[in-house]
Amino acid sequence: MSKKTRYLFVTGGVVSSLGKGIVASSLGTLLKARGLKVTIQKLDPYINVDAGTMNPYQHGEVFVTVDGAETDLDLGHYERYIDENLKAKNNLTTGKIYSQVIERERRGDYLGDTVRVIPHITDQIKEFIHQVAVDSDADVAIVEVGGTVGDIESLPFLEAIRQFKNDVGYERVMYLHVTLLPHLGAAGELKTKPTQHSVKELRAIGIAPDVLVCRTEKPPGQEHIRKIALYGDVPTKAVFACPDVASIYDVPLMLEQDGLGDFTVQRLGLQCKPPDLEAWKMMVRRMKTATDKVRICLVGKYVEIKDAYMSIAESLQHAGIAAGCQVHIDRLDAGELASGSGMETLRSAHGILVPGGFGARGVEGKIRAIEFARKENVPYFGICYGMQWAVVEFARNVCGLKDANSTEVAPETENPVVWAMEDQKNIEKMGGSMRLGEYDCKFTPGTAAHRVYEADTVRERHRHRYEFNNAYRQQLTDKGLVISGLNPERDLVEIIELKDHAWFVACQFHPEFGSRPYRAHPLFRGFVEAALKRATAGRTPATV
Ligand code: GLN
Repeated sequence: MSKKTRYLFVTGGVVSSLGKGIVASSLGTLLKARGLKVTIQKLDPYINVDAGTMNPYQHGEVFVTVDGAETDLDLGHYERYIDENLKAKNNLTTGKIYSQVIERERRGDYLGDTVRVIPHITDQIKEFIHQVAVDSDADVAIVEVGGTVGDIESLPFLEAIRQFKNDVGYERVMYLHVTLLPHLGAAGELKTKPTQHSVKELRAIGIAPDVLVCRTEKPPGQEHIRKIALYGDVPTKAVFACPDVASIYDVPLMLEQDGLGDFTVQRLGLQCKPPDLEAWKMMVRRMKTATDKVRICLVGKYVEIKDAYMSIAESLQHAGIAAGCQVHIDRLDAGELASGSGMETLRSAHGILVPGGFGARGVEGKIRAIEFARKENVPYFGICYGMQWAVVEFARNVCGLKDANSTEVAPETENPVVWAMEDQKNIEKMGGSMRLGEYDCKFTPGTAAHRVYEADTVRERHRHRYEFNNAYRQQLTDKGLVISGLNPERDLVEIIELKDHAWFVACQFHPEFGSRPYRAHPLFRGFVEAALKRATAGRTPATV
């Protein structure tokens, strides 16, 4: 018999992009600070089986779990706020649910029943929710339902969480609804009506929220809170305002101060110690009091989409906290760079980062940025695609292999310095078929990467099809390229670097998925420290 896990369901209303994921994650922080074991799960109503096949314009970043699932970016927030690695099963989609139900139907599991949304789909959803809680042995399972109440796709999920309270008992379930209080400039006031409507919609589905968290630009007054409580049918102490704040890491502290942590443990009858948020507070303080500023130029393809490089932006902030500086990110469109503009942004950078990516668009701009960083001794950090093009740039401009390329964009190239492994060559199915999840990386002693990791072997998360072509290893290393990490099982190049450079390190894996607010990833930290050195060259850095 597992412990009596409590379930905290988070839904959203009025508009999308409310920051529901941050609210769910912040609750995780508050409960964990009370010594409780917490897990978080995301239920995504879309029909894709996972986020792996989705375009960053539609979906933002694809977050990768240690066991190789391509998930919603909210899982990244969850991991950073509760400091736990989550698994594939922490992200459930309509696509996954239907695939399983249809598979079971074909097997004959339903014994002649007509297979329907209720109970078969809803049962499958509930089974998943239970399973995650049982497997993680959680005191509290936070379950966020993606989308906005009123969407057709999310109905089976809402129905499943409605039923849940009758299955486990109302006292073990809490419903938290996140809404928006828009501020109407012309009227000069905050409006509560959309929240009232959203709660009404939720109640029509059969879910009466226990708590309302209202996102606002400006803090609401007591009269607003009373009105929301009255129409939302909750006590005033169950209405929490969540105004915009300078940093997303302020949110747990703000909600704690307003009493959401205590309210939750009381409502769910949890026995726990008083919250210890000292480390979190210290982290936020360090972030806010740093005076040195570092400019990092991120050269990518989706620079106008804030969510596209979410974990990288977060990891840079973490590294800033560790190094004692503020990190400002200049997002530079690789296409712009390819057409010859944008060089001023590159020149004013203290560090240049080329992130992961796919396809030919913008590649020449990325190469230009890498060449600039290499020649001008500007700290460079390449991630996945950013490593592959660093290898191509080196092969072309240092080794004289003018037509060096990756077979991803030039399948017929004479010099495929980056190519697909045998097992990736004849892949027909695009979804879930890359090299995914954690693999070992063993360091070459004495390299910069080895130094910053302070370990001989680590495990890092991957998401790619192409690799450094070992046939060129000798030629490239003869000219000075350093292989600083290898995967021992398959002899694959995991990290490269350059000697006699301020910092030129690029990795085939995605370190951004492993960075945490008070445990910056070593590669990000090394990069930001090198950039800080460049920013403060010629003067003594300010102490924090
Ligand atoms: N497109 C490259 C590959 O598939 C890199 C992928 C990435 O950067 N995540 O190998």
